[in-house]
Amino acid sequence: MRSPLLGSFLRWRHSRSVLQALFLSLAILVMVDGFWGPQLSPKNMAGVLPWVHWRGFVALALLLAGNLFCMACPFMLPRKLAKKLLPADRHWPKALRTKWLALFLLFLFLWAYEAYHLWASPLLTAWLALSYFVAAFVIDGFFRGATFCKHVCPIGQFHFVNSLASPLEIAVREPGVCATCRTRDCIVGRYEEPRGLDQGTEALRPHERGKLLQAGCELWLYQETKTGNMDCTFCMECIHACPHDNVGILTRAPARELWEDPQRAGVGRFSRRPDLAALALFLTFAAFLNAFGMVTPVYAVEAWMGRVMGTTSEPLVIGVLFLAGMILLPALLVGCVARCSASLSRSGRTIIQEATRYGYALVPLGFGMWVAHYLFHFLVGGLAIVPLTQEYLAFLGFSFPRAPSWAVGPLVPESWLLPLELIFLELGLLVSLVVAYRIAVREVGPGPRAVRAFAPWGLLALFLSVAGVWLLLQPMEMRGTFMGS
Ligand code: SF4
Ligand code: SF4
Repeated sequence: MRSPLLGSFLRWRHSRSVLQALFLSLAILVMVDGFWGPQLSPKNMAGVLPWVHWRGFVALALLLAGNLFCMACPFMLPRKLAKKLLPADRHWPKALRTKWLALFLLFLFLWAYEAYHLWASPLLTAWLALSYFVAAFVIDGFFRGATFCKHVCPIGQFHFVNSLASPLEIAVREPGVCATCRTRDCIVGRYEEPRGLDQGTEALRPHERGKLLQAGCELWLYQETKTGNMDCTFCMECIHACPHDNVGILTRAPARELWEDPQRAGVGRFSRRPDLAALALFLTFAAFLNAFGMVTPVYAVEAWMGRVMGTTSEPLVIGVLFLAGMILLPALLVGCVARCSASLSRSGRTIIQEATRYGYALVPLGFGMWVAHYLFHFLVGGLAIVPLTQEYLAFLGFSFPRAPSWAVGPLVPESWLLPLELIFLELGLLVSLVVAYRIAVREVGPGPRAVRAFAPWGLLALFLSVAGVWLLLQPMEMRGTFMGS
């Protein structure tokens, strides 16, 4: 925030809107080409931009910075309009104020991607983008705050969980300043009537405080007790709202928040959130199953399952495969590991309590697998954007002296791809092992008991990493890449 150019841009009140407008233009481009362009996926913006470039940049942004894609999220622009046109005054039902609904939607999203070959269908991709805009508009038009981001959006949950291992977070610079702060604008917003707490601001309802000049955090993350990246969309409202310039985008030790367990504003303690732990574990196992859906052996497995189930319906077979591989098998594995860890360390905790405390340790490994997988597609197919843009401009009526050349190579030499993927996966394993051990030390103290509590989780991480190496050694489908000339 204090760097000369980037800092000035980020401190500008409309910087987020500019980024969102840029991404909104890209989303419109994707929808227009998806609905009306050629339906050959590698030759359509809807087949390439979301599935090759967006996912590659998401992986890079989370790895090198943080949740930058929620910051630039285009779905939030129409939502601003919804807040003006619709009442936006209802409270989200208490029973849904967890991550279970979002986890279910994330499962549906991953299943639909595979079952209906979204990467190969520009039309379905365009419909998906459009339905996303409609859902964000309707939900945030009727409910208070950023309900869609916090409780519904599957993509947001992916960013929230994986950004736990990112090197940047939005946080206060000087905790002492917050301790003496009278207005707490970062959470309540800045109004025309800026009265201190001692003058009764808290007693005033928002409409009594006059015009809202700057919103506070709509995800209910109060800066003084906010810890880490969970649920933070990097929207920067708190940065602009704080009258003391006490909030910034700060560097931190990546993944450290995974082993710490403070009371977090808007989130609570990780160890008391089985829904959050389930989301983190789900995303870890989904990283491996998602990659499994793209390697050659999956066809033999699907054919075998189809024969056993007596069906030729691919969505049904993939549904059962994903249910088993993303939910049932992980639940069984994690349950056994949690039981062993609790017995060996004599922690006296139940399986659910143990899994809720240690489950977050697998996030870096899952993230390593997502990065390896998404970067593979990006590095292989990233240059396709050049002929694709030419083709798109030709579709809009522009003419070029030469026809687009589709024979583009990968962004890095092919021999680099596998080593790079393995580095990300094994880096994830290393960090997961460190996190699991640090959790064990915090829970049962240093020494042999910590080693015994850690061992089952370490073995599970090792087992998953071996599975990941096997997956990366398999031939992977070149989705979104045109193989012709
Ligand atoms: S972040 Fe700023 S507005 Fe929020 S409590 Fe601290 S000083 Fe006050
Ligand atoms: S306002 Fe809330 S969600 Fe937005 S950056 Fe600040 S803490 Fe994160």
